[in-house]
Amino acid sequence: MSASDPSCLFCRIIAGEIPASVVASTELSVAFRDVNPQAPTHVLVVPRRHVANAAELAEAGAEDLADVFATARAIAHAEGLDDGYRMVFNTGPRAGQTVFHAHLHVLGGRDLSWPPG
Ligand code: AMP
Repeated sequence: MSASDPSCLFCRIIAGEIPASVVASTELSVAFRDVNPQAPTHVLVVPRRHVANAAELAEAGAEDLADVFATARAIAHAEGLDDGYRMVFNTGPRAGQTVFHAHLHVLGGRDLSWPPG
């Protein structure tokens, strides 16, 4: 595990090399709007540290993990989602993960059905 991977799309967004609509930034995390939103609010919260998925994030240390969730919570509140929102980590190809830098989807602003597809 390295701090940053120059071939990783989300590392390049974090570095400011690829533009994104950034909504929050902390010492440990960056949050930006999903380019293909699945709900009125669809934000991705990513740890600055390059880890492939949520499982690796859990091993990386409590600080990074806690900051991702605290950032997500602040975004949900700022976006007016206190009445309900969903947080999703797709983990691995079979779960639909397509970008292999851990990211927490924060989705809200419409009714969200269950179970997911
Ligand atoms: P996942 O399928 O869980 O790996 O989610 C990857 C997400 O990244 C998808 O929802 C994509 O729409 C989103 N995405 C891909 N490229 C970009 C980008 N350049 N800026 C913002 N979101 C992106």
